[in-house]
Amino acid sequence: MSDKEILRIAIDGPSGAGKSTIAKIVAERMGIDYIDTGAMYRAIGLKMVNEGVSREDTEEAASERQKVLDRTEIDFDNGVITLDGEDVGGKIRTPEISIAASDYSRFPEVRSKLVAIQREIGHRKSVVMDGRDIGTNVFTDAQYKFFLTATPEERASRRVKELQEKGEDVSYEATLEDIRKRDYNDTHRKLNPLAKADDAIEIDTTDMTIEEVASAILDKIDQN
Ligand code: C5P
Repeated sequence: MSDKEILRIAIDGPSGAGKSTIAKIVAERMGIDYIDTGAMYRAIGLKMVNEGVSREDTEEAASERQKVLDRTEIDFDNGVITLDGEDVGGKIRTPEISIAASDYSRFPEVRSKLVAIQREIGHRKSVVMDGRDIGTNVFTDAQYKFFLTATPEERASRRVKELQEKGEDVSYEATLEDIRKRDYNDTHRKLNPLAKADDAIEIDTTDMTIEEVASAILDKIDQN
């Protein structure tokens, strides 16, 4: 397949806006792969937490992180996130790892490693990729870019419901606080902050069902 025929669909937005659920549906209906870049940042967060690596913005801490990154392998294939060959899907959705992912993702050494992996995947095959900087940085040339939003309150309710369905006991207040903290981190970091690309289509999903959002995206793609 020539590079021209490869389709890249970017879905960005803040935490809990429904990106991964929607991206998965869109990818499945189009018969192409879904790549969850948040899972990659979470896997790095998990490794850094396990190894007790500093979150400080100093040269010494950066070189400590670089050493860990140099012996870290991350892949996302067939819906499975692997860290050094181990499926870590079951370990990366905790509040601790959510914050760690957000904290470490602001460092250039972390971002450049993951962006290189993401670009390599998207140059090899057609993908729906979800994240924070896909349309603004990873694939500025993506054929389709979407930016999903919802109020923080709605996003917190969705997250609580999702975790409760998995049998986890979480408080709405703590979840809302976590979402606000990550929104702040993700929009204020210097490098590739969360932002809507100028050419992205924004969809406020607050009062929409999953099916409505997926259809809105698929309709846009069909129209072209
Ligand atoms: O999407 P998810 O909530 O799993 O992402 C976890 C964290 O990873 C985000 O809060 C963000 O800090 C970081 N991230 C990022 N760039 C991406 C995807 C995720 O910085 N493309």
